[in-house]
Amino acid sequence: MKKVMLMAVAILFSAATVFAANVPNGKMSADTTKKAKPAKVQYTCTMHPEVLSDKPGKCPKCGMTLVKKSPAKKKPAAMKM
Ligand SMILES: [Zn+2]
Repeated sequence: MKKVMLMAVAILFSAATVFAANVPNGKMSADTTKKAKPAKVQYTCTMHPEVLSDKPGKCPKCGMTLVKKSPAKKKPAAMKM
């Protein structure tokens, strides 16, 4: 009788291991969901913040390559802790 219990525990344990092995897959799909949301990207000049463009190019004022402007909604340094 005790052997049956051991078997059941062993099966449960291996089942849990298989389940745990599948977790990274779920993590990946969660990451994809995060990336799927398209944010409006704007390009700006590092020297001229007033220069805004919805596509990459060069600053009309100084000719510098425009950089992606990230939405200033998140403040990672201040939000956590
Ligand atoms: Zn500029």
